[in-house]
Amino acid sequence: MKSVVILGSTGSIGKSALDLFTNGPLKDCRVLALSANENAQELAAQVKKFRPKYAVIGNPEKAGVIKKASRSTKVLAGTEGLIKIAALKEADIILLAVVGAVGILPLLSAVRAGKKIAMANKEALVMAGSIVMKAAQKYGARIIPVDSEHSAIFQALQGNRPQDVKRLIITASGGPFKDMEPSQLKSITPAQALRHPTWKMGKKITIDSSTLMNKGLEVIEAHHLFGLPFEKIEVVIHPQSVIHSMVEYIDGSIIAQMSHPDMRLPILYALTYPERRQGVIKPMALYDIQKLEFFRVDFSRFPCFKLALKAGIAGGTMPARMNAANETAVRSFLNNRIKYNDIPYYVRRAMQKHVNVKNPDLQAILKADLAARADTEAMIDA
Ligand code: MG
Repeated sequence: MKSVVILGSTGSIGKSALDLFTNGPLKDCRVLALSANENAQELAAQVKKFRPKYAVIGNPEKAGVIKKASRSTKVLAGTEGLIKIAALKEADIILLAVVGAVGILPLLSAVRAGKKIAMANKEALVMAGSIVMKAAQKYGARIIPVDSEHSAIFQALQGNRPQDVKRLIITASGGPFKDMEPSQLKSITPAQALRHPTWKMGKKITIDSSTLMNKGLEVIEAHHLFGLPFEKIEVVIHPQSVIHSMVEYIDGSIIAQMSHPDMRLPILYALTYPERRQGVIKPMALYDIQKLEFFRVDFSRFPCFKLALKAGIAGGTMPARMNAANETAVRSFLNNRIKYNDIPYYVRRAMQKHVNVKNPDLQAILKADLAARADTEAMIDA
């Protein structure tokens, strides 16, 4: 029986993962620990149902609600709690599904404990990918991607030699606004931007998908996970979201992974790898697909994608700066403080004001992250 720790269990990925336990393909696995940042009610319900050994709530004042849900569960709070459950001795695998930069310290904790990590937090890799991958090698930790594109690449790489890879091809649905004129973007509301054509996801990532910032972050994530230079990672618009990404090899072969767009598949694969289990995803009806289309990314429509790429290539503390500015801008858009096309505007300005630190340590990265948040807030307030 595998023991699984889920960080971020009340988010979209966390809930999909828990779905797999009760009567699902993971019914022989045990939920060892759960965590949530804000949503104490939902965490309490999960704790009551799964009786984990540990539960972590972001806000310590809400710990009482969780304690009431299960007497056998030890309740911890805050980042310290996350760091602890990410490194539990009895844990076989850690699913890191928290959203945003908060994932970085628990991730490093799991890495230093030499854990197997199912990775669903892209921001931590974007900010500190070099540090994380170096530490993973040093401590023998294994990082298995959960992001659908990276899972697809991971699957397409199985059984092949890294030196035979010509390039990675990451697919993007293009989001709901891919055919819209740039001048129309001003008037887009949060409700419109939250309607993704093919995937059901959390709020922050849905906005990032519509701006293609998400794709930019994924390119940086792929660069670190698979150790390839940026010029060997390409993005192609594929509106059907049937092919989740591809690997092209030097002999001209392209290996693609296809499935229904359902996050439970890459979650399940990451948790059971190298084993595959049946029972959640309905088989693909090939004759219903009809066509698979591919288009070039139009940079003028997706300035966020270009900014992310620029930050990734610059390296140093720039990706952390860019990511924090984006998190701040997206939150401000969701709160109706700024317009949709202001998101790239503030990210660009935050990047322009940054003095990049090359080969930063974790301290410098966290400092760049905090400064970017403060600077972006100040710009939005001005
Ligand atoms: Mg993705």
